[in-house]
Amino acid sequence: MVKIVKFGGSSLADAHQFKKVGDIIKSDPDRRFVVPSAPGKRFKDDIKVTDLLYKAYNAESEQEFECTFDTIKDRYQSIIDELNLTVDLTEEFEVIKKNFQDQISEEYAASRGEYLNGFLLANYLGFEFVDPATCIFIDEHGNYDDKKTDPVLSKKLSEVENCVIPGFYGSCSEDPTKIRTFSRGGSDVTGSIVAKCGQVKLYENWTDVSGFLVADPRIVKNPEVIGTITYKELRELSYMGASVLHENAVFPIRSQGIPIVIKNTNKPEDAGTLIVESTVHKPDHIITGISGKQGFATIMIEKDMMNDEIGFGRKVLSAFEENGISFEHMPSGIDTMTIFVHQPEFEGKEQSVISAIHRLAKPDSIELEGDLALIAVVGRGMKSTRGTAGRIFSALAHANINVKMIDQGSSELNIIIGVSNADFENAIRAIYDIFVVTQL
Ligand code: ASP
Repeated sequence: MVKIVKFGGSSLADAHQFKKVGDIIKSDPDRRFVVPSAPGKRFKDDIKVTDLLYKAYNAESEQEFECTFDTIKDRYQSIIDELNLTVDLTEEFEVIKKNFQDQISEEYAASRGEYLNGFLLANYLGFEFVDPATCIFIDEHGNYDDKKTDPVLSKKLSEVENCVIPGFYGSCSEDPTKIRTFSRGGSDVTGSIVAKCGQVKLYENWTDVSGFLVADPRIVKNPEVIGTITYKELRELSYMGASVLHENAVFPIRSQGIPIVIKNTNKPEDAGTLIVESTVHKPDHIITGISGKQGFATIMIEKDMMNDEIGFGRKVLSAFEENGISFEHMPSGIDTMTIFVHQPEFEGKEQSVISAIHRLAKPDSIELEGDLALIAVVGRGMKSTRGTAGRIFSALAHANINVKMIDQGSSELNIIIGVSNADFENAIRAIYDIFVVTQL
């Protein structure tokens, strides 16, 4: 059973962490494909190597560049020294420095963190090093080009016994010498692509937490870990702000049904969270997780007999489209329609949107409200359970929270609730309490 193991930046932040990673890989011969991130933070106020690389590339003076570049070199050199590795990165750093000075591209600069870490890890493990610039292709929008990547990467992986393939970058499908990166945290996406092309049975994503939590630990004290979650539930929770895995990481393997397990490098014995396509495994509670985001605004549009007017919704939405604004939710009444948008995106354009709605849809009135939050209560267990919505709303009423919007998709996988920003944290705590703590 072949496995791909991806290690995040904090798992590979220094030599001590490298040893833990080495032990994890060596303890299971199925762990044949390894995807590392760049060295992350070693302590709270430390700086990730990727951030140092961006800083060096955008340095405003020669002195700032040299100083930042030396800090990056030291990070790798201390790993080499403490692990007694036989590699010498002098030449690599000379090439990289020259490319920085020639300003070849910011994405190239950022990618060197993973490149060098992969190089060291391959040497430490005695595995082959595979440069993703030669086998992972990224299009002009920063998405992976599966048509070009899959045959090349599949062939490469079928030829190697073990390998280390750095995360986060590949090359431009038009020009294989041009480095491109995914968005931040994108090594998770690389892990998925390797899982798909390597036809593995399991994608282990090693990080510094023991899995996905039912709620944000900054809001709920010691929340429970989710045992098993489906891709769809995960997508809902990640979209609404839960972040352990990059939100695009599921896409490459979704069609393959390859499970992902989130594991903790510092506590490998913890079970972690298993992410699957589908399962009969019942969640421990009716809900699987709660997440949310603040910073929304609503545009409430009123017009008598709105329900009779064919094309009204289209006209209103065109006003948003004209202004390049995407909307999140659109609850409606008989003569009213409310559009939820991201407040920062809307603020600069609000007057232009209002006049476009007047011009296109001729409403009776428009009202705006800001400083709102959306909370997603997600769970496959809600589908056949009566009373879930009732419990959520009675918990919120008990906590004295006014609900501004309710949206339940027909999939019955989630219920979205709009509250004011000020009530956001209390609302999450109240929902967690009723489903997980009290379990009434
Ligand atoms: N090193 C990159 C970042 O910090 C990518 C990753 O860690 O996945 O965003």
